[in-house]
Amino acid sequence: MQCTGEVASYIPELAKINPEKFGMHLHCINSGHYSFGDNEERFSIQSISKVFALTRAMTLLGDDLFNRVDVEPSGDPFNSLVQLEYEHGIPRNPFINAGALVISDVLISELDTPKEDFLNFIQKITNNPSIAINQTVFDSEKKYSHRNAALLNLMKSFGNIKNDIETVLDFYIYQCAVEMSCKELSTAFMIYANGGKKLIENTQILTPKKVKRINAIMQTCGFYDEAGEFSFRVGLPGKSGVGGGIAAVHPGQYTVTVWSPPLNPKGNSELGMYALERLTTLTGLSIF
Ligand code: GLN
Repeated sequence: MQCTGEVASYIPELAKINPEKFGMHLHCINSGHYSFGDNEERFSIQSISKVFALTRAMTLLGDDLFNRVDVEPSGDPFNSLVQLEYEHGIPRNPFINAGALVISDVLISELDTPKEDFLNFIQKITNNPSIAINQTVFDSEKKYSHRNAALLNLMKSFGNIKNDIETVLDFYIYQCAVEMSCKELSTAFMIYANGGKKLIENTQILTPKKVKRINAIMQTCGFYDEAGEFSFRVGLPGKSGVGGGIAAVHPGQYTVTVWSPPLNPKGNSELGMYALERLTTLTGLSIF
């Protein structure tokens, strides 16, 4: 396949990544690990972090969370401002930037040390205490965060942001700057494929009801204005990030993560989507 995508450049540090990188990691509940290419190299998970943040916020607030963020696909780009104005500051879903910023606000209100808590949660579900953020990517996004600041200001004017804008922006950019490999993401996402339990120790991290809901939101909203296309071509719940990663799950069967930095015009990894389409088509293992 001819790749015409481009590496994200609006966060300058991400533009430096080698576009030829490609990694894939499949983790099956019953039959172990299968991997390809740069599957153990860490990359910037960016918006894939929104799944972990939503998970923490749902655990802390329960259904009250959904008074502040909806669960409908947006059909708009990930950083769009337009719907927020006529929908009175309530974001369409937790996976567009506006929704993730509300989730950041919730975590800041609910937790004493939100950054440590967030990182600890990822380390715990991945069984790897070395997972960390990339400070250079963090600093780089901080300098160019005017659009996220605009989203926060608009939502604050409607009363849907409780903390100060700088604090929320700082936490949001921090969560996006986490680095993980395909292998690590496939392990972390196992809780969504395995009924809320870690595969390794069988510890229950999330209730099956919450897993069902998070997977539903990934299915309908995980790829912004390309969620329908991803569902149509790949047929799995999943989440993308502008670092070129995509993590997806087949409940009861497997998790799969792919990393290829060039993005299509909708901000999703072009080769990543293609690889996942081939995987589910050739194996017949999509959820449909
Ligand atoms: N940090 C990025 C941003 O806020 C995340 C976007 C993404 O991965 N789609 O713009």
